[in-house]
Amino acid sequence: MTNSPFAELGLTDRLVRALRAAKYHKPTPVQQKAIPLLLEDADLLGIAQTGTGKTAAFTLPLLQNINEDGIKPLPSTTRALILAPTRELALQISDSIKTYGFHFNLRHTVVMGGVSQGAQVAALKRGVDILVATPGRLLDLINQRRLKLSECEYLIIDEADRMLDMGFIRDVRKIVDLLPEDRQTMLFSATMPAEVAKLAEEILYEPERVEIAAKTVAVEKIEQRVHHVGKPAKKDFLVKLFDDGDLSKVIVFTRTKRGADQVVKRMAKSGIKAEAIHGNKSQNNRQRALKNFQDGRTRALVATDIASRGIDIDHVSHVINYELPNEPESYVHRIGRTARAGTSGIAISMCDIEEWPQLKAIEKLIKRPLTPVGEVPADFAKPAQGRGKPPARRGPPRRRNRNRNSRQSTRKAA
Ligand code: AMP
Repeated sequence: MTNSPFAELGLTDRLVRALRAAKYHKPTPVQQKAIPLLLEDADLLGIAQTGTGKTAAFTLPLLQNINEDGIKPLPSTTRALILAPTRELALQISDSIKTYGFHFNLRHTVVMGGVSQGAQVAALKRGVDILVATPGRLLDLINQRRLKLSECEYLIIDEADRMLDMGFIRDVRKIVDLLPEDRQTMLFSATMPAEVAKLAEEILYEPERVEIAAKTVAVEKIEQRVHHVGKPAKKDFLVKLFDDGDLSKVIVFTRTKRGADQVVKRMAKSGIKAEAIHGNKSQNNRQRALKNFQDGRTRALVATDIASRGIDIDHVSHVINYELPNEPESYVHRIGRTARAGTSGIAISMCDIEEWPQLKAIEKLIKRPLTPVGEVPADFAKPAQGRGKPPARRGPPRRRNRNRNSRQSTRKAA
């Protein structure tokens, strides 16, 4: 294939054709940087958030490398493992593999919690080329001896910071210990808390580092407003916002699952079609809610941070922060749902007096103030001390005795 900027990165014709069909015209910055390195078998530390095109950045070279190896997977094994913190993200990665790998004859499957394991077990029995998994279900299946990781030569850990937030880091370490040392490893994370940096250091071998600053992908293109609204008035205020027809496809963030359900109820009362996604909903329920929202059958999706993580929905018109998150980084993740793939978007935050410290922390992180709409009540500027601090991180990871020899690429020698 001639003249494709993807071919210039070293990708084969089969991938170039699949990308053309997906209407990708040129690589995103993370793809530009990561793909040539990964094709050369390097380990990689990728600091990039959802929306940068990071999934294709690791999936495309993986497909090509695996296909070039030409090895058939043994029963109950996988040749590559992609770990994702949430089911939604796992399914999205799986969709990407399907799209980009259209012209390859590779087997892939997803294992994740929340659905029965029968079909997953059956798929693993034959062996797969690429397995996408959430950590909990993966360990379950390994403990049941449905899968061995001894043949797995490629490991990708996606959204490592969210793995940490969700308490999966120990599981991730357990899983990594089951893989051969001679492998290619990639770790992606939107942010680099100390514990993720430590994990990266332990599991990556002389990694290349590719960093795409969160601010350039999300914050700058988004119009960010803040309304100072007292807690009791928030529901009515939210419903009023929806009088504006421009709010066509809106994600509303709440801090708690209960809060999400309550907001949906209140919106329903006012005739606004909304559904909630959070951890208490079944997988089917969450998928249906996402689909209804994606297809425009509901106007609003009400989500908690964890449930929303990694969801990839096009043309979100507005993100509303019904409550401000405790961690300012979550704000950047949230508003990144609007302004995907180069479009601009609007983020509206509601801040009550107790959330003032969170607001200040957000403004400090993004290095600019949100635009206040309406009056700032005088008492808002005198916050209660000590509120809004991010929660303490979990304890330090156990020490590993890392003694990995230089990985020799036997694949490429063949
Ligand atoms: P990700 O950061 O992997 O979640 O990707 C964000 C979105 O960008 C997804 O909808 C991808 O399909 C899309 N995307 C990724 N790479 C490209 C590209 N090179 N051109 C156009 N869209 C892309």
